[in-house]
Amino acid sequence: MPDILKEILKVLPEGKISDAAFEAANIVLYTKDQNYFLDNQNTIRSAVQQFKKRIELRPDPSLCLDREKAEKEIKKIIPEEAGVQELIFDPPRSQVIVHADKPGVVIGKQGEILREIKSKTFWVPLIKRMPPIRSKLIESIRSVLYENADYRKKFLDKTGHRIYDGWLRVKKHEWIRMSFLGAARQVGRSCLLLQTPESRILIECGIDPSEEGTETYPYLDSPEFNISELDAVVVSHSHLDHSGLIPYLFKFGYRGPVYCTWPTRDIMALLQLDMVKIQRTEGKEPIYTSEEVRQMVLHTVGLEYEEVTDITPDVRLTLYNAGHMLGSAVVHLNIGNGLHNLVYTGDLKYARTNLLEPANTQFPRVETVITESTYGGKENVQADMEADEYMCKVIYDTFARGGKVLMPVLGSGRAQEVMIIIERLMREGKMLKAPVYLDGMLWDITAIHTAYPEYLNRNIQQQIIHTEDNPFLSDIFKRVGSQKERKQLILEEGPCLILATSGMLMGGPSVEYLKNLAEGSKHSLVFSCYQPPGSMGHRIRAGEKEITFRGENGRPETLKINMEVHKVEISGHSDRRELMNYIKRCNPQPRKVIVMHGEASRCLDLASSIHKQFRIETVAPKNLEVIRIK
Ligand SMILES: [Zn+2]
Ligand SMILES: [Zn+2]
Repeated sequence: MPDILKEILKVLPEGKISDAAFEAANIVLYTKDQNYFLDNQNTIRSAVQQFKKRIELRPDPSLCLDREKAEKEIKKIIPEEAGVQELIFDPPRSQVIVHADKPGVVIGKQGEILREIKSKTFWVPLIKRMPPIRSKLIESIRSVLYENADYRKKFLDKTGHRIYDGWLRVKKHEWIRMSFLGAARQVGRSCLLLQTPESRILIECGIDPSEEGTETYPYLDSPEFNISELDAVVVSHSHLDHSGLIPYLFKFGYRGPVYCTWPTRDIMALLQLDMVKIQRTEGKEPIYTSEEVRQMVLHTVGLEYEEVTDITPDVRLTLYNAGHMLGSAVVHLNIGNGLHNLVYTGDLKYARTNLLEPANTQFPRVETVITESTYGGKENVQADMEADEYMCKVIYDTFARGGKVLMPVLGSGRAQEVMIIIERLMREGKMLKAPVYLDGMLWDITAIHTAYPEYLNRNIQQQIIHTEDNPFLSDIFKRVGSQKERKQLILEEGPCLILATSGMLMGGPSVEYLKNLAEGSKHSLVFSCYQPPGSMGHRIRAGEKEITFRGENGRPETLKINMEVHKVEISGHSDRRELMNYIKRCNPQPRKVIVMHGEASRCLDLASSIHKQFRIETVAPKNLEVIRIK
């Protein structure tokens, strides 16, 4: 038995604990004693205080009531108005997951209903919100976990052993270093490798969708990266430039944990599966398959914001809100038991949006900040309010002349933000009511937003929890699920707004719509996100009126652009002013700022401005550079 468990058992009453296991950094104790399970006389709480670890007491699986009987009993205990939809039993862990429309009702006053379920069934209930929009894709992610409950239990225990074995060993730390394997002086293929004498942690493993060949991927062939030594992967958010290559690690034998927020897990799996599908339809061989995405889901350890967790013996991780998209996180790493505190911003929005709260700036300690700089150049000053108004005017005018508005969007973030703005205007009668089409995956991603309202800003949270006001459930939103429906909607007369991926016009439905709408001068194309130099989106945005691209069968095709072209790029990133403010407000003040995730000139510009204005040491490394952090 690992040392930490031996030490914990010493402070608990003798003979009460029959088994102990890790669930990643959490410690789970099992008891065969019914009375001790129902009332442990605060002995567990005092162990938690003493060891400063999460410790949970569960009944031994042998105590659990027969499943059918338990199901009947639980349905009897929970009031009808809670809207219980389904119960999923996880026997190896003595847990039952209760999906309900109103989780608050299930929990009851001070958790009294939960206590009753425990005492009558000896199952530990976990209450989850039933998303008001159903999505087959979300359900299949969940079933991967339930169908592999035994494997999952073993995997979480193994992860815990990596963290706690040698718990009492005193370690001396001389160094911490960070290798930049991608997204240094560029946007795309984010990937950083953190090394200490004890740990190897990969932060992000993304792709650059605008590039072809090896430039698409981070430098996983660099000498310091060895997949067999990797302890953990941390992902800030689900955009493919941060998460797109993670399943590839599983293809090459990685079986360790992937840490991220719960919504990030769901959305990145969706985006990856979508990418595989698009590559197949374009006749390309995908670099991984749905099997590796399934492996990734199975090995993901979800975290809430501000939940502190050990991920290796000397690294402690906390995720904070980054304000960039649903579930996006600023990554805080406490390395070497307080030796050094590192904040990696991921993609950052330091302002309140229609969907999210601004990024967190308050940390227990910070010495080094690694920040993004997508819009970090001096010229990158945006006025979000004006941008929203401008977008509404374009939609309004296009509708008035009976045209269609095509908005290529990243699957998540801006799309849902636009939905909220447009729904409000139509509801208030300030815009002609017309259908808003969500192509394919966007529907599922919107469903995920309704499944995790606690990650959204307070207004939207309230609206979703009181379902009658849930803006995402408005009947203006229509799902487009097939090629046939896509064709039909293009032929249909009358105005509409079409939200479709990919946002960078790199394949997918947005390109299909563009080919069919481009020549009609009454239509409008509205860019909503960053267009990398050299891409088709970049060229159209720059005003080119004839675009040649590789069509079906690889033959070149030419497209005349007669539709109006507009850009309204807010895309969930901070502008120059917000990035400067973020560093200024970071509390405590960092001693060093490392700038990445921006075009070279913007990285350098932001680094030099932060240095001049705040007298903080800054650096903008190149790809493959290694920085010794301590
Ligand atoms: Zn992003
Ligand atoms: Zn990014």
